[in-house]
Amino acid sequence: MHDQPVKRRVLQGQCVWPISPNQARVEGNAVIFTSYDDPFHRPESGFLGLPHVEYDPVAVDGIITPAFCDWHFHWVQHRVAGVRGKPLLGWLAEDAWPEEARFADAGFASVAAEGFARKQAAAGTLAGSCWGSPHAQSLRAARDAGVRYSLIGPAVMTSGEPDYLRRSLEETLAELRALQVEFEERLAVSPRFALSVDARAMKELRDFAWDYTLWLQTHLAENEDECAAVARTWPQAKSYVDVYDSAGLLTPRTLLAHCVHLDDFDWRTIKQRGSIVVHCPTSNEALGSGRMKLEKVRALDIPWVLGTDIGAGPSLCMLDVIETVTRIHDWSAPVSTLEAFFRATVSLEMLESYASRKSRVTRMLGTARAGFIEFARPKSIDRADRDPERILSAIVEDWRNRGEAVIQRVWDQNFNLVHQA
Ligand SMILES: [Zn+2]
Repeated sequence: MHDQPVKRRVLQGQCVWPISPNQARVEGNAVIFTSYDDPFHRPESGFLGLPHVEYDPVAVDGIITPAFCDWHFHWVQHRVAGVRGKPLLGWLAEDAWPEEARFADAGFASVAAEGFARKQAAAGTLAGSCWGSPHAQSLRAARDAGVRYSLIGPAVMTSGEPDYLRRSLEETLAELRALQVEFEERLAVSPRFALSVDARAMKELRDFAWDYTLWLQTHLAENEDECAAVARTWPQAKSYVDVYDSAGLLTPRTLLAHCVHLDDFDWRTIKQRGSIVVHCPTSNEALGSGRMKLEKVRALDIPWVLGTDIGAGPSLCMLDVIETVTRIHDWSAPVSTLEAFFRATVSLEMLESYASRKSRVTRMLGTARAGFIEFARPKSIDRADRDPERILSAIVEDWRNRGEAVIQRVWDQNFNLVHQA
């Protein structure tokens, strides 16, 4: 039946494949067959009725790694990225919100989405969790333009500032129901933060996520003024974390961005609920929000991943986040470049595996990555090099000097070329 062999493109070259925070598979001239944890394992073919597969290796001169997954980005803010030194609430009111209001216009949204999709592929990011504006149209524009995401949700704002982005809870839920039909399990329920959603809305959103088994994402304790405003708005709550926890928003399928200003009780609550922390160091640095206490996350073994938080984060490239996270935590919680690459390439499949308690997020076997990146070979690295930390650090050093030009080619999971420098 299967006389004609099936041709399949694969990659051949030097590969560094992080499989845990302190371990990587490294080969000097390997054939890469899959995006799974053992990318050098040749799949069996040609028996039990399976077609016979002939491999067609693409020669790669640079260094191959998994593609990036950005676990917190606002695609609708990429045009206002790069502002520095404004604290969160001022930045939202002056930069982010007026920009998001423009996405009510479908024509504007689709042109902006095409620009973003191109920049995102050039940055090597093929998955992660995306925020739209409050308008359903911003999700459809992203999807139609080929923006890459594992999860996506409109920012839900049913109360608070500004009035021009606010929608009623009824209107919001009706829109989410329509989006769930289109986006299915990729729809993320995304209450913006504790100043945008009241108690009734939080509970309704929690129920909606529960009914459809959807992921939740939100912002938590990013900036001191924000935390003070949350304390004034929610006087009965014990803390910012308690606001979300009382509404049932902290689940194993909840992504919590920032987590900068938390106490020990908050950290223990997050650990008990099994939620996942999204660390956004470039954004925290740009807005002067403070340093997330990674040592607390480590002490409790809370799963964590990385995000750009573009537009508060200045760049949509995860190399910027990798460089920053390895620089800011010093002796209290040092992060190796290998660990940073691991946290920047964790796929949704890996998070699902954690959420369903099959595995710890620190080591995931048998799960796929989003695709592949070819980095230009750093001058100091030859094919005999087997030390992942040395190779990956040389890539980051090159990026400091040359920027995103170090990303030469990007392929998706099926080896389709999605970007070429
Ligand atoms: Zn954000």
